[in-house]
Amino acid sequence: MVKFNPDLLPQAFKSCPICHAEGSLSVAVSKESSGKNVKYLLCTACRSTWVDLIETGMKLVVGPDEHVGFKSLAEWANLSQKPLDLSVMGKQLPSVKTPTIISTTNRKNSAIGCGFLLVLVVIIAIAINTCWESIPATETIDLSVSVSFDNGQFTIINNDSFDWRDVKLTLNSDYRLTYPLLSAKTTYTVGAMQFTTSDGTMFNPFTMKPLNMSISCETPDGNRGWWYGGWTAPTPTVPETTPEIKTDVVKQTAYPDIMERAKQEWGEDFEMVKYEYENQVEAYEWIMRQTAYPDIMERAKQEWGEDYEMVKYEYENQVEAYEWIMRQTAYPDIMERAKQEWGGDYEMVKYEYENQVAAYKALQ
Ligand SMILES: [Zn+2]
Repeated sequence: MVKFNPDLLPQAFKSCPICHAEGSLSVAVSKESSGKNVKYLLCTACRSTWVDLIETGMKLVVGPDEHVGFKSLAEWANLSQKPLDLSVMGKQLPSVKTPTIISTTNRKNSAIGCGFLLVLVVIIAIAINTCWESIPATETIDLSVSVSFDNGQFTIINNDSFDWRDVKLTLNSDYRLTYPLLSAKTTYTVGAMQFTTSDGTMFNPFTMKPLNMSISCETPDGNRGWWYGGWTAPTPTVPETTPEIKTDVVKQTAYPDIMERAKQEWGEDFEMVKYEYENQVEAYEWIMRQTAYPDIMERAKQEWGEDYEMVKYEYENQVEAYEWIMRQTAYPDIMERAKQEWGGDYEMVKYEYENQVAAYKALQ
């Protein structure tokens, strides 16, 4: 599974999706009553707040009514009127790389005669528990869906044992279609031209390719259902490059353990095995060179084990927080209490100290 690092969202978004302020977004941590830390994205200019910071999107919980709810990262980027810079999100993976293939149509000629193989790829949302005090406890449920596209029509199957209500279908991020009800275990055929943008432009299947589809709905128990899938047309370069990559992968023996884990994670996807191996090796060699804060490194290793990219990421963040803490001289009592509460988790010590100092100042 690709690690999605929500801390990098403020860099990926060039401006706030709601107020378009630049540099106003930041990621903060809230401690739930259960003791679990939950991250959220906040705009310091307009106070818009998002939770569910996951690969497939995020949920606006404080903001204008018409935008409250879950949208894909691409949809939020559209609203921000700036392109999303996913290259800062740790790994530069297009979403279609996620390897769970749920349905494949055979090679067929489309209406304009340029047949292409559509591979439908489902993106598995990383389930993150997002309850916090002020937010109603609705969960996001992964819908069980099959979608295929042929001859200008989508075949959509509700594989769930429950009805979907208030269903919103979004094609290529901009074209929408709503249904009050799609019943359990039922197959629907939907013409592509039924999808329209907010200004009424129809999706034209003769000139446009379906790239992705998301489905959101209400479930009978009041939760929110969500599904996202993307199509990718294999390019001729894929079969040509794969054997080279395969050979390359087989040749790598410097770190057999890292190779073994990469293979376990990505299986026959040699391109991804190579990518994962190279990233992990780079992180591993970087870790071996660090000598400044052995205790912080030890904690990071305990938390992330042999996932060297995450160990490196954790170490860097904790060192930054630690060095920041060392520079603070005001309010030593508050710092002492924050250290007692969070110990060696310097990011949380810093967070606690900042919050407590802000609260103390507000009282003056
Ligand atoms: Zn804003």
